[in-house]
Amino acid sequence: MKKFFTLLLISSTVWMGSLTAQNTVDLESLMPQINADSLLRTVTDLQNFGSRYALRPGGNHEVAEYLVTRLNNYGITAVIDTFHLSGQHWLVGLYDQDFYNVRGVLTAAEPIDDSLVLIGAHLDAISYDHATWELLEIAPGADDNASGVAVMIEMARICHDNHLRFHRDIHFMAFDGEELGLFGSYYDAGRRNDADEKIAVMINNDMVSYQPDENWRLMLHWYNNSLDVVSRAADLCAQYTNIDPYIPTLSENGNYNASDSYAYYQNGFRTVFAIEYTFSTSYHTDHDVADSNNYAYHADVARYNLAMLAEYADLADGLGTEEQQDVVSMQVYPNPVSDKAVIRYQLTEASPVSITITDMMGRVLLRQDVSNQAAGIYLEEVDLARFPAGVYLCQLQTTRGTETTKLVKR
Ligand SMILES: [Zn+2]
Repeated sequence: MKKFFTLLLISSTVWMGSLTAQNTVDLESLMPQINADSLLRTVTDLQNFGSRYALRPGGNHEVAEYLVTRLNNYGITAVIDTFHLSGQHWLVGLYDQDFYNVRGVLTAAEPIDDSLVLIGAHLDAISYDHATWELLEIAPGADDNASGVAVMIEMARICHDNHLRFHRDIHFMAFDGEELGLFGSYYDAGRRNDADEKIAVMINNDMVSYQPDENWRLMLHWYNNSLDVVSRAADLCAQYTNIDPYIPTLSENGNYNASDSYAYYQNGFRTVFAIEYTFSTSYHTDHDVADSNNYAYHADVARYNLAMLAEYADLADGLGTEEQQDVVSMQVYPNPVSDKAVIRYQLTEASPVSITITDMMGRVLLRQDVSNQAAGIYLEEVDLARFPAGVYLCQLQTTRGTETTKLVKR
């Protein structure tokens, strides 16, 4: 094996020099599309339900329906996942109610593995008189947590408008019954745990639009099963937004159990929880209205989320627009592969073609050249039987550029 590597390294040195620039999706160029008005629209729509208190007659079914429609409009298959709970709650007493989670799925293009990325926020709200604990009829929940749901919907819009494709499935979740004890997230995380699902990261946003200060900060609550996630989240926030990420100390991290991410953590999943650094003064009151929010700040929180999705769901290179797909489009299957993989590609014009398989260090392990090929659809078989299990890059080079796909060998 060692000798094989050395020989191929020599040929790769010559080869790498002639690689042209890849058609990568430029994350930076997507960021300006994230839009304060679009976030405000979702927050306003949610506030206009009057109350999103989960135990009101009929519960949050109509809210869930609204979110399913919004996701569907962005080409995302979404369903209402109904569950029933009864019990007793310290504030509201006995309950016996249907609850309504929303789950939308954006399916991966050429998945790198069988894990998914989940972006979620709770759809319910609550308001009460903070002196008497008496529940109030109006629960606008604009910051808590229409703001988090609006980020989730904005991500769906950006993915749709830019034809974004990822190498992991993205699950868009809205949780019911959070205010009563993380009901919707415990239900969902428990079911995913039972089903042995793999989640690369659960990205939680809860109260991300209140920001009266000049210096914007975002608190990133962390979980000790995924410290690398919070560290990466802080990096991405600093890189793509005007917000200073703030990773709390252990004693400042107490609210880590106060939102839906905690239910995922409890089920063994990796997660991070973003919340405004300056806590809303209208928390759980009928004053938590859309007008109190800062939508420029909110849009930056959404930008941090897009960077997280790009990173953890592995935004596909060279597949960002229909135009790029038009030039040459490559698919590799099966993926993951155990021995032979088929590379299917389409040329829209005649071109010499080179297919290479490299390891993650860029070492070329296999190369197949065709001197000139007419326009058309081609299938090329590559034999990976002798390769160790791991992640490889499959590159297709033509006169129009290079397309790269990750390939997982079992
Ligand atoms: Zn909340």
